[in-house]
Amino acid sequence: MPARAPFGFDAPAEALDRLTPPSASARPRRERQADKAERALAIAAELASLYGEVDCPLIHRNTFELLMAVILSAQCTDAAVNKVTPALFERYPDPSTLSQASLSDIESCIRTLGLFRAKAKSLKRCAGQLVEVHHGEVPSSMDELTKLAGVGRKTANVIRGHAFGEPGIAVDTHCRRLSRRLGLTRNQDPVKIEADLARILPPVEWTNFSHRLIIHGRRVCFARQPACARCTLNRLCPSASQSTSRSAPAAP
Ligand code: SF4
Repeated sequence: MPARAPFGFDAPAEALDRLTPPSASARPRRERQADKAERALAIAAELASLYGEVDCPLIHRNTFELLMAVILSAQCTDAAVNKVTPALFERYPDPSTLSQASLSDIESCIRTLGLFRAKAKSLKRCAGQLVEVHHGEVPSSMDELTKLAGVGRKTANVIRGHAFGEPGIAVDTHCRRLSRRLGLTRNQDPVKIEADLARILPPVEWTNFSHRLIIHGRRVCFARQPACARCTLNRLCPSASQSTSRSAPAAP
């Protein structure tokens, strides 16, 4: 069954043809940057129609709690993080109390999460840096955020996008995989992928694009067996022809 048109409107046939990406299976021609940017915008529009406004799935009451939750979410599900953070934030409601907590106490609060010992160290050190350098506040600049313990560009971009309304592209494992499959980057390095996406998308799209791409990776474009047959991005995706013949898993 043909996939429905991957647009939120009835695009003319010639527009669809122009946006069809070079196939990854045939000898790929190099896509012009302007065409890639136009295709990226069409992908962004389709993702917006699929997923709408994306709320942060991590439970938090303020920017400090959001920062701690995002640090904890590395290589963990959001649901697992949400199970431990209410008790953690009840016990340590601000950077000052968390920075003075013993490591073993913090570890006992987050023991169910992977890498809990390393994460406990990051939380304590980060809270201490917030107290000592930032008067207990979470800074908003990329430079200051990435100097905090446990904070890389991905975490910083999530904080900037959700807490400060600053555009940022959070490149996690899903965003990396889908950006490559969609032919928006050839890079593996998250920092280079972020730069590639930033070049072809306007800043107003950055935050939502990466978060919607992450959802699409969890629901449709699975790591092992992407469900291309039911993916509404397949008209825009150079990897679709390689995988549409695979049996598509049922929607979760
Ligand atoms: S599911 Fe298939 S068509 Fe959709 S984005 Fe992933 S690789 Fe492309």
